[in-house]
Amino acid sequence: MSIREEICKFVFDLPIVDTHAHLRDPATLPQPMSALALFNASGNMRQLWASSGALSRQDYRQLEEFRNWDEFSAALSSVKATAFYRIFLNGIKEIYDLSSDELDRSTFEELSEKLSRAYEEPDWYVKVIRDRAGICATCQDSRRYVDRSFLTPVARFDQYVWFGRPEWRAKVVEKHGYEKLTSLDGLLECLEQDFDQAIRAGAAAVKNNSTWCRRIDFSDSSRSDAVSAFADSISSKEYDPRATKCLGDYVMNRICELCAHYDVPLQLHTGPAGGLDHMVDWGNPCHLNELMIRHPKTKFVLFHAGGPFANECRDLAVQIPNCYLDLCGVMAVRGLKAILDDWIERVPHTKLMWGTDANLAEDAFALAANFRTVLVDLLEERVNSRYFSLETALEVSQALLSGNAKRILKIDLKEPQSSNREGDKDA
Ligand SMILES: [Zn+2]
Repeated sequence: MSIREEICKFVFDLPIVDTHAHLRDPATLPQPMSALALFNASGNMRQLWASSGALSRQDYRQLEEFRNWDEFSAALSSVKATAFYRIFLNGIKEIYDLSSDELDRSTFEELSEKLSRAYEEPDWYVKVIRDRAGICATCQDSRRYVDRSFLTPVARFDQYVWFGRPEWRAKVVEKHGYEKLTSLDGLLECLEQDFDQAIRAGAAAVKNNSTWCRRIDFSDSSRSDAVSAFADSISSKEYDPRATKCLGDYVMNRICELCAHYDVPLQLHTGPAGGLDHMVDWGNPCHLNELMIRHPKTKFVLFHAGGPFANECRDLAVQIPNCYLDLCGVMAVRGLKAILDDWIERVPHTKLMWGTDANLAEDAFALAANFRTVLVDLLEERVNSRYFSLETALEVSQALLSGNAKRILKIDLKEPQSSNREGDKDA
């Protein structure tokens, strides 16, 4: 067996622990399933439709849908060379055994027929993720859908960090009632109660998406400033940016303490986010530098390789022992390889993880196949150039695909998982 064949066999046989996904409940997919429905449902494709201007948006999540092949194919013309589309299409071709390299009207119809037949099988969705993609555990970032037979929940407390914004405050009020939310202490009590509940429900991590609403520079707000900011926030129906930031900073520090107390990692969205008023600089991971130093017992996991700030992520992870890096959501081929190639030289490989950031079984499969291929290419080059041995290459791949995630997120695959479905409101 050649070195490539050996690496390839090892990497493609290894089960993956997916650190991050937003898988859609298959029960909410259209019946019968079709090619148009698949492309309309893909969150990653929707980002491409929005950035190419094919579909306008008032809100990131409220894109229109394509109604037929003609509308779809006109929009496809400008995104057909992008990496996510190529990765997604390659995955679909492999799962549904399509022969054509590009989508045309007849291939689109062939795909629709195959999708509709496949989805008649009740477990098809889980089978694609488990058996075809070889994903043995998935950390699911969703409030709506956490099927515990194959998903591990991740908790979100963004509504507490964004409490100063009336629309997010309403979510906390809806759950706990106004009476409990008349003081900063009351707010922290509700947070602690939700946190405890989420950990008891099996949350493997806490995810924070602050980048969507604000710069991720969390200062060390004093308690007295936070008390005033709380009073200013609830006394006005208008959004007060100064009070919202001060209170959010204080709450975020408390979340870091709770993560350390319960020993669960804090996963942070870094890099660009999808909000319409979003500034790319808000997600610069360097803004997290002080927070990570302030909370040395909290494990911080920087998501998405920092977007355009991959070098910043790398140097933070080199500098700060409790800083870990996750390549989830890097929808690229050569770009993904370049980042990983650089990180392997500079960051202890025991601090690196990967996840799909998928919302459909098909993109979970496609992204897993792409990551495995990128990893094989990279490791083969490194072994051939005698940078490290084949044995080390296999050890690194095992750590990246599952070992680090199992250790850091404490994913115990031996434990039998219950098969009850939960509409998990807290996690
Ligand atoms: Zn995500």
